[in-house]
Amino acid sequence: MNPQALRHLGALMFGAVAVLSSTLVQAQEKVLNLYSARHYQTDEALYANFTQTTGIRINRIEADDAGILARLKAEGSGSPADVILLVDAARLWRGEQDGLFQPVRSAVLEQRIPAQFRGGVTPQGAQWFGMSTRARVVVYDKARFKPADVDSYDKLAAPALKGQLCVRSGSHPYNLSLFGSMLEHLGPQRTEEWLKGLVANMARAPKGGDTDQIRGVASGECGVALSNSYYVARLMRSNKPEDKAASERFAVVFPNQSSWGTHINIAGAAVARHAKNRDAAVQFLEYLSSDTAQRYFADGNNEYPVVASAATENPALVSLGRFKAETVPIGQVGANTAAVQQMLDRVGFK
Ligand code: FE
Repeated sequence: MNPQALRHLGALMFGAVAVLSSTLVQAQEKVLNLYSARHYQTDEALYANFTQTTGIRINRIEADDAGILARLKAEGSGSPADVILLVDAARLWRGEQDGLFQPVRSAVLEQRIPAQFRGGVTPQGAQWFGMSTRARVVVYDKARFKPADVDSYDKLAAPALKGQLCVRSGSHPYNLSLFGSMLEHLGPQRTEEWLKGLVANMARAPKGGDTDQIRGVASGECGVALSNSYYVARLMRSNKPEDKAASERFAVVFPNQSSWGTHINIAGAAVARHAKNRDAAVQFLEYLSSDTAQRYFADGNNEYPVVASAATENPALVSLGRFKAETVPIGQVGANTAAVQQMLDRVGFK
């Protein structure tokens, strides 16, 4: 054998040994492949606790929601993904429509997670489960307005608020879901009128995230803004002097307390259509619904637990107080977002 062929043989044998040993590792160690769009550092403890109690190691791939959905589609049946975590009902609905999940039947999940927060319900179980909720609240300049001026989503479109409203892009899923909820409550004609009113009231063209809208209120550029509750709570808990000063300037209202309740959205989990570690995946979803995990969502990331019995001691959430939440099925809200996007194009909501 010439030296080149020997080297080649050597490389082949090395490869075979490597394959064999990785197979052995797999046989000993239970793993779970997680595709996550949750962008919160505090989730580390959530995952570590699961590994500690079950011995199942988590391989995590993080990307934004759109990136995860595109990747799952591209990978098809060869995808290593077992569990998918997405933020927002609109995106979970999208994943369900694209056939990226599989139904899960679990007595634990059905007992712990209210039906309102389960999506893609089939006789074989739900395709996804909400694990935490967030309210879409109104933040306003308390020097300029009284709560009664801004205590419903409807009022944000009233002529009295002309030039006052700051809001992120209408096409962002947080807004698409809010508007999808409005479509459920108001019907198509009134929803489109309302969206037109929001555009007419804008203080500036939509830009930035929810926190930028809150800062806009604090700086005086806007009189009123829309934000997810956890961004508000994060600012309220911040020790930075500029955040403390900002928190002094704005007040928060949970809209529509005297009608259908404040719009709430979810962050949720699904088992991937082609999961190779299905049992571990279901086990992880059940873990997310446990009181321990539910408290991580609340205390670590300022979200609301989806399980009613999981009490939170988060000081910001406690000070924001209890509120009446809407009860529309969150899957229906997700389904409405396609129609809403067309309305946004018509009314020029960027
Ligand atoms: Fe967010």
